[in-house]
Amino acid sequence: MHELGLLTGVVTAVTQVAESRGATGVEKVGLRVGTMSGTHEEALCGAWPLATQGTLVDGAILEIETIQAQVWCPQCEAKQDIDEFFALVCPQCSTPTGNLVSGKEFEVTFADLRDN
Ligand SMILES: [Zn+2]
Repeated sequence: MHELGLLTGVVTAVTQVAESRGATGVEKVGLRVGTMSGTHEEALCGAWPLATQGTLVDGAILEIETIQAQVWCPQCEAKQDIDEFFALVCPQCSTPTGNLVSGKEFEVTFADLRDN
């Protein structure tokens, strides 16, 4: 599973921070995930217990913030929401645009550490 690999990277990064600060565990981890990032929230939530098992992050809540993918359309002079089947055209006026302004995000936004 693709998501498991990504989450293993997240867990490794959070574990390093937690260890460097002497935390005894992690309460919650925040992720920002774009709708064009190639991952799905259900799959991420499903893989989370596996990714964290036996680590310092075990038992932490995963909080996902979904970022709607958007392109900039020069014809509309506006950002337009696109779905995951985006085909390089503006969904409003069909002007070709490959100018993705958001949607590829996959990043850790915060980790609430436990220190007692
Ligand atoms: Zn347009």
